[in-house]
Amino acid sequence: MARVAVVTGGTRGIGEAISIALRDAGMSVAANYGGNDEKARAFTERTGIRAFKWDVGDHDACIAGIAEVEGELGPVDVLVNNAGITRDGTMKRMTRQAWDEVLDVNLGGCFNMAKAVWDGMNGRKFGRIVNIGSINGQAGQYGQVNYAAAKSGIHGFTKALAQEGARAGITVNAIAPGYIDTEMVAAVPEDVLAKIVARIPVGRLGKAEEIARAVLFLCGEEAGFITGSTLSINGGQHMY
Ligand code: NDP
Repeated sequence: MARVAVVTGGTRGIGEAISIALRDAGMSVAANYGGNDEKARAFTERTGIRAFKWDVGDHDACIAGIAEVEGELGPVDVLVNNAGITRDGTMKRMTRQAWDEVLDVNLGGCFNMAKAVWDGMNGRKFGRIVNIGSINGQAGQYGQVNYAAAKSGIHGFTKALAQEGARAGITVNAIAPGYIDTEMVAAVPEDVLAKIVARIPVGRLGKAEEIARAVLFLCGEEAGFITGSTLSINGGQHMY
């Protein structure tokens, strides 16, 4: 039986590349998304991978979303917590709402989704969970106290959950991407982006497929001894 994988934010950017990589490896993939129906429709037309809409920041919606996926594809073996948003601003300008939104989606989403699949994975004695953190959760970033806190939290969440899953065959790992060429990075002003690229030893932005390759590796049957780790993929920008 093919493994069943759920990729949050799986219809665009890094998530799209992850959905495709897992599908190409023979898994049945459900790509979750938050609201952009047009992009999700185009993704499904392009790839044949089904898209499921729910807000990962909403606990009940995650429980219902996983129930829907399991009803259609079967029990979930692999969870990739990739959905993420930014609401940047310096401390002086950052609103409580911008803080809450980023924490709820980026970090709360990991909890909500893991909670929704946890009992099933424990019962079946197998699971692969990969959480997408960020270089900015490791190193901090000006104007991103919310995003850096959420992403840093993901790294702690990963290590704690890995300890709880180890005996049940569930591995929990994180990937901390550097700057990857997606719409999220396209939103960064050109002059700022040029300065960022100048600080990447490899001399370019990363590609979504380069993150997807690592996710696939961590989700493999043979990756059972890798748990609680964070893999930095950042072109040498931050060696942690
Ligand atoms: P994109 O902005 O290109 O895509 C984000 C995806 O997340 C979309 O599919 C979006 O759905 C989905 N999403 C957003 N909010 C929610 C929500 N509340 N519920 C469900 N899905 C949601 O992001 P990237 O591909 O650039 O980033 C992917 C992940 O990698 C994020 O966690 C990001 O923080 C992280 N990252 C990215 C880096 C980069 O350089 N790009 C660097 C380091 C980390 P919809 O289409 O409906 O909006």
